[in-house]
Amino acid sequence: MLNRKIGIDLGTCNSLVFIPGKGVILQEPSVVAVSMPDNKILAVGLAAKEMTGRTPENIKVYRPLRDGVIAEYRIAEAMLRYFIKKAGGSFRFFKPELMIGVAAGITSTERRAVIEAGIAGGARQVFLAKEPVLAAIGAGIPINSSSGHMIVDIGGGTSEVAVISLGGVVSFNSVRTAGDKIDTAIANYIKERHNLAIGTQTAEEIKIKIGTALSKEKENFLEIRGRDLISGLPRTVKISSNETAEAISEVVTEIIQAVKQVLRDTPPELSADIMDKGMILSGGGALLRNLDGLLAQATGVPCFVAEDPLLCVVKGTGIVLENLEVYKKSIMSKK
Ligand code: ADP
Ligand code: MG
Repeated sequence: MLNRKIGIDLGTCNSLVFIPGKGVILQEPSVVAVSMPDNKILAVGLAAKEMTGRTPENIKVYRPLRDGVIAEYRIAEAMLRYFIKKAGGSFRFFKPELMIGVAAGITSTERRAVIEAGIAGGARQVFLAKEPVLAAIGAGIPINSSSGHMIVDIGGGTSEVAVISLGGVVSFNSVRTAGDKIDTAIANYIKERHNLAIGTQTAEEIKIKIGTALSKEKENFLEIRGRDLISGLPRTVKISSNETAEAISEVVTEIIQAVKQVLRDTPPELSADIMDKGMILSGGGALLRNLDGLLAQATGVPCFVAEDPLLCVVKGTGIVLENLEVYKKSIMSKK
């Protein structure tokens, strides 16, 4: 009882909480709404995300993580405190140990900020591990083997590509191109092609409902509402899935380039392993239709989407917490 453990995936878009023995107990957007004059936290998670783009002047909606690192320290701390509290009231007396996944390219200062936010948020001790490693563990990859494994984690703010062998990252690349930029690309396309202004929430909805990385003969359609750029009045248009492929092709190409770069930087022995087993996609971006097909086509390497790609990192935190000895090589730092 004295030794409570919580695994947290502190994502740019979504945060998830895992408790060993219980599994994923929370999955909410990494969004916090704050009332302005008094700096009070009004809502965290889904309730706060729903306020995005709809708030009066005296309410500010924050996404405290940007590009995989803490951008708004105080807000991140409040969010962590909320997660720890939600993870169980019984932590009032026994402070838990946290395992938090962090971007593989994080600096030591950024790392310290995560640890300090965790402690300030109510943890006794904070362990950190690299997200691609956790994603790989959560995807069921035997990372401690001497064979090379490639994981491509596409989140909201960043896409991280890593080759892992013997529990460590051998080659790695991170680009600030992921789900958010795909949404912006869709919104820009609709603005240019249909003279219609839409918000990022609508753009994301289009992506999730009909978005595709590859044009297909059989198309899907979606009616969306926005503001006509000329008349200024609300208007409805029908968008096709192949239009989304066109809209996002440039952004997706940037992700493909990041994958190719890591393949180039990978020692030949490990490349052979990857050719054999293929790369694994995780993160919410992995759910974009036909992204696996496009990546395989562009790189010549087979490509598979992990089971529950949104849960890979947090599942990884749980597996590491439950087997600290086995994964001790993968734990970056603790305090
Ligand atoms: P992060 O680790 O940055 O918090 P996530 O792994 O939670 O990111 O992924 C969030 C991203 O995944 C968002 O850009 C979201 O729009 C996108 N996403 C979620 N579901 C889908 C889907 N079905 N199709 C395409 N993109 C999706
Ligand atoms: Mg993530």
